[in-house]
Amino acid sequence: MTSLHSSPGGRRPLIGCTTYRKQVGQLNVVGVNAPYTQAIIAAGGIPVLVPLCLDEAAWRQVFDRVDGLLLPGGGDIDYWRYSKELQAELRGIDQERDELELALTQTAVTEQKPFLAICRGHQVFNVAMGGTLWQDVQSQMPGADKHDFRTPYPRNHIAHQVEIEPDSKIAHYWPGRSAAVNSIHHQGVRDLAPGLVVTARSEDGLIEGIEAPDHPFAIGVQWHPEAMYQDDRAMLALFEGLVNVSANGSK
Ligand code: MN
Repeated sequence: MTSLHSSPGGRRPLIGCTTYRKQVGQLNVVGVNAPYTQAIIAAGGIPVLVPLCLDEAAWRQVFDRVDGLLLPGGGDIDYWRYSKELQAELRGIDQERDELELALTQTAVTEQKPFLAICRGHQVFNVAMGGTLWQDVQSQMPGADKHDFRTPYPRNHIAHQVEIEPDSKIAHYWPGRSAAVNSIHHQGVRDLAPGLVVTARSEDGLIEGIEAPDHPFAIGVQWHPEAMYQDDRAMLALFEGLVNVSANGSK
């Protein structure tokens, strides 16, 4: 198999990466935390940011032109998308982002477009397919360990282990049965969506990896590989998997 890295003049897969919105002083910024884009580039792909505010006809055109998608981390999905009841304090709700990412994910599943879903993205993946979330893992899930290692912890802080399911797609990109991962989340997958499978769990039993088994690459991880790939080569392999499968699908 030809390495993407060895053919700088060759066509490199375009990976559409969804974005957040943030008010910074007078500026209304749409963007993404740079390590996501750097990890895609390090894996041989070209990140293409997908801004909010696109109507369906517009995001559909972006979807058709990119070879794969990356759904990054971010604020909480609003509770009504998966539950009747608000049960915990939610953070960083953005209806427009929920709308766009849920629609993109459903389309990517239906049309077999490769995607990697990270943290919030992993939760979006589950909700898009009909699953539910713990609105706050710490206060709702019995026996939960601490998962919310925000500042002052560095983003590559090793928080806990996950056990990888050996018969899963993610296991193809992982050297062992377990992984030491970071953990920067207060929500988590509660009821798994129909048709998805669990591929990784933390020691307290929380679902930390999911995938669609009949899909070339539909993988969700609760941890943040983009903040760890410089320390741990296996984390980059997830992005390389996304880029390589995206390249194959686009020929
Ligand atoms: Mn965790």
